[in-house]
Amino acid sequence: MEFISIKQAMEKGTGQVNVRGWCYRVRNSNKMAFIVLRDSTDIIQCVVEKSKLSEDIWNQALKVTMECSLEITGDIKKDERAPTGYEVSVSSLKIIGESDSFPITKDQSPEFLLDKRHLWLRSRKMTSILKVRSSVFQAIRKFFNDKGFYEEHSPMFSPTSCEGGSTLFEVKYFDDIMYLTQSWQLYAEAMISALEKIYTISPCFRAEKSKTSRHLSEFWMAETEIAWFKLDDILKNAEDLVVFIVKYVVEHNEEELKFLDQDIEKLKKIKTPFPRITYTKALEILKKDGIEIEWGKDLRTTEEDIISKKYEKPVIITNYENPKTALCFDMIAPEGYGEIIGGSERDTDIEEMKKALIEQGEKPEKYEWYFDTRRYGKVPHSGYGLGVERVIAWLCNSDNIKDTIPFPRTMIRRMP
Ligand code: ATP
Ligand code: MG
Repeated sequence: MEFISIKQAMEKGTGQVNVRGWCYRVRNSNKMAFIVLRDSTDIIQCVVEKSKLSEDIWNQALKVTMECSLEITGDIKKDERAPTGYEVSVSSLKIIGESDSFPITKDQSPEFLLDKRHLWLRSRKMTSILKVRSSVFQAIRKFFNDKGFYEEHSPMFSPTSCEGGSTLFEVKYFDDIMYLTQSWQLYAEAMISALEKIYTISPCFRAEKSKTSRHLSEFWMAETEIAWFKLDDILKNAEDLVVFIVKYVVEHNEEELKFLDQDIEKLKKIKTPFPRITYTKALEILKKDGIEIEWGKDLRTTEEDIISKKYEKPVIITNYENPKTALCFDMIAPEGYGEIIGGSERDTDIEEMKKALIEQGEKPEKYEWYFDTRRYGKVPHSGYGLGVERVIAWLCNSDNIKDTIPFPRTMIRRMP
């Protein structure tokens, strides 16, 4: 028997079809059973009529419970009243895997759904978000591949920190300790002297101790590092990437975005150039809203939100005024989804770098290999990291970053 997906069956529209999947909903009377079948592509209503079928098949139909897996053969036709506009009149039905009483019913708490995440993944909400997630990964790869970048990888075990010690995960490494990677940057800076234009999409690990709706302890970062690029070049590249991702998702995930209540027209307006403001200007905006920040302090989540809500596109905040961070930038998503990109034109002066490391409490001796990248033919170069889950949260209208990854990890969430 050859099976087609529910989507293909609806495209076919008439005649006999073989479909298989899981029972999304079921309702019986003593003459009829209505089974809504779900597969990865869609759902479809299947009607079982006792009078038209053998006793055997009718008895199978009575055993169908929520989320059991089954194969169905029947005639498909248009039906306005059915949930997705088509209905299958069942001629044969076979249960493949029975389902005990499925634990997820209506109106359950977010914590319960996280405990049952392995089952909650089957919901239309999670399925929609995960399809968008897949598109975001595809878009990132396509963006860089089309420009001739090489996809490369850095080790997950790192002897040193990259983002500061407070969020480092220590792991036992034979008789020693190592750290889980926080970013590929140092290794990427070595690789560009060979490959010039590179990118990666990789897990990153940060022991985030605060409970926020936008930090995971294991998240995916898309990072790029580009030789010869100055700050202006990298800003342009970062803007182009974000526009490319949004466009790709709008083109490939219209159904999912609609299901998630996302305004597609609004996303279509995300085009370059993005507004750019300096750090000092950001402080002025906040001051007008009654928030005083001491010059030099990082913007916190709430402050980023106030700024992002004033724009319909992502905003780039540069920090030309501070000699220490003059070549850094952050990109903040609209509507309070937080920082989606952090990047910079990299420092190339070894003495400056040593000073910065000492200030962070690091031992510069451990970075001798890295300083070699500056000793042997250094070039100006720039890079950034994009938080993949933050972008997905923004595109999917998702108020918690935990919903943007199949099995989230935070300080308090480690199961399933
Ligand atoms: P934040 O201030 O929001 O913690 P950061 O300044 O620590 O961000 P970077 O080191 O610049 O972030 O990392 C690059 C990008 O990775 C960020 O812009 C963000 O999109 C994403 N990111 C950083 N930390 C996390 C995290 N814990 N969970 C999910 N995404 C993250
Ligand atoms: Mg951080």
